[in-house]
Amino acid sequence: MSDKQTSSNFIKNIVINDLESGKHETIITRFPPEPNGYLHIGHAKSITLNFELADEFKGKTNLRFDDTNPIKEDTEYVESIKEDVKWLGFDWEELFFASEYFEKMFNRAVILIKKGKAYVCDLTAEQIRAYRGTLTKPGEESPFRNRSIEENLDLFERMRKGEFTDGEKVLRAKIDMTSPNMNMRDPVIYRIAHATHHNTGDKWCVYPMYDFAHPIEDAIEGITHSICTLEFEDHRPLYDWVIRECEMEKQPQQIEFARLNLTNTVMSKRKLKQLVDENYVDGWNDPRMPTISGLRRRGYTPEAIRNFCREIGVAKNDSIVDVQMLEHFIREDLKLKAARTMAVLRPLKVVITNYPVDQVEMLEAENNPENPEMGNRQIPFSREIYIDQEDFMENPPKKYFRLFLGNEVRLKHAYFIKCNEVIKDKDGNVIELHCTYDPETKSGTGFTGRKVKGTIHWVDAKQARPAEIRLYESLILDEEQEEGKTFLDYINPNSLEVIQGFVEPNMKDVLPQEKFQFFRHGYFNVDSKYTTKEKVVFNRIVSLKSSFKI
Ligand code: ATP
Ligand code: MG
Repeated sequence: MSDKQTSSNFIKNIVINDLESGKHETIITRFPPEPNGYLHIGHAKSITLNFELADEFKGKTNLRFDDTNPIKEDTEYVESIKEDVKWLGFDWEELFFASEYFEKMFNRAVILIKKGKAYVCDLTAEQIRAYRGTLTKPGEESPFRNRSIEENLDLFERMRKGEFTDGEKVLRAKIDMTSPNMNMRDPVIYRIAHATHHNTGDKWCVYPMYDFAHPIEDAIEGITHSICTLEFEDHRPLYDWVIRECEMEKQPQQIEFARLNLTNTVMSKRKLKQLVDENYVDGWNDPRMPTISGLRRRGYTPEAIRNFCREIGVAKNDSIVDVQMLEHFIREDLKLKAARTMAVLRPLKVVITNYPVDQVEMLEAENNPENPEMGNRQIPFSREIYIDQEDFMENPPKKYFRLFLGNEVRLKHAYFIKCNEVIKDKDGNVIELHCTYDPETKSGTGFTGRKVKGTIHWVDAKQARPAEIRLYESLILDEEQEEGKTFLDYINPNSLEVIQGFVEPNMKDVLPQEKFQFFRHGYFNVDSKYTTKEKVVFNRIVSLKSSFKI
């Protein structure tokens, strides 16, 4: 689905040319994740690009699990990936597993052997590396390179039958050990792994390597434009070699684009898995994680993520995008959608000494002044309320316009109150304020008698609903790593703060994933993991203000 035309980019131009020249009648793209972890915001860039591109030209997009490595893959990841792609708002044409093509891939490898273009090699992984040479030194040929076709066919068949142990033999493409492109120096295309595969079980013990498997998968599905990230640019000659030498009927074109990097964010499944496995976070969907499921639980919407992906665009050179840009798009999206409400995060009790004991009045407030369709709500007001501790100061600096002894402020949606007395405990902590209110100043009555400079929020002390509130800072402090340090050395010890506050009483029926704007505090999402009938838990998605401009 696409809610607007994608902006112009070099990949789109390739597609337009291919359609105009008649090279293709229609286009087919694919999103090919390896099910070895949960999807992250980087994947969202690739998903948005592939699906929207095909959609714009009335083509199709497949979801294909690139599950050719039995050791790291799991059906839990398969399910989460499907859920995340759907949640982002995309429908795949067909769902494939690369493992469904194992037989076909094996047969294509046999074609290579029969043409003298592949051989079984007995060198160890270490030896292969040593023989490979360097960028400045050509590689040396393996002593097994000139085995006969018959011997290779026999050995490859026996590899498949399980006659050899892991690492004992590999199948290599026979290309050019002196190629300036290291990827062309007889790359390994099959290896032995006696491991149970999440899809094919124990049927196979030989598995194709990515560089061999991927072009074949693309060609089998008739993918026209195979979009991948820049690090595969040097692999493209090998991609084309496999398509050609394996005699694939269809010839997909590999196109590379820059991967998404975000400031203060680790974006590799391997690292994210480490954060989960070593309990730095509360699972893959921890609201601090840049995973799609983490962003969802944090309160991001599919629209915000898609708009962000469109805005960052598609380029040919790597760059780092400021994470504040992502935040900008969730604010934009929620501005008109999220109901406004008042919440007190760190409560300080205020007694309005001239307000009648036992009186409660209902005050009317708009749910979203920018979107009148969202209607109004009633807020109870009585003699005792809570305000936020930070809205009172005993020794205020100049230009502090909130509450202090002798000062008058406006309570949002209610009255002006003036602070007359500060109550402290025996340690000198402020525990209560005594104020008086002016009935003339009721909000909405058009009172113009005098002005106050500060407006603060509050909740009714008797009726407010307790709520747990979770505030986040970035999980990673700095993306620049000093030598000898890893990303784990840059974990922010203060990335999560859990506090107990109060929200308006009408918040008693909120549902997981409902989103609100807490007046002055930012946008919040009802946590889907910890919220129960008894206790509501909010995640702060993002604060209200930012200096970020696009
Ligand atoms: P990771 O290193 O995080 O595991 P990956 O590239 O190995 O990522 P895959 O499951 O192989 O993960 O990726 C599926 C698709 O998503 C690929 O086409 C890949 O190019 C794309 N992709 C992965 N990370 C990013 C990123 N940061 N920005 C854009 N596209 C990405
Ligand atoms: Mg990978």
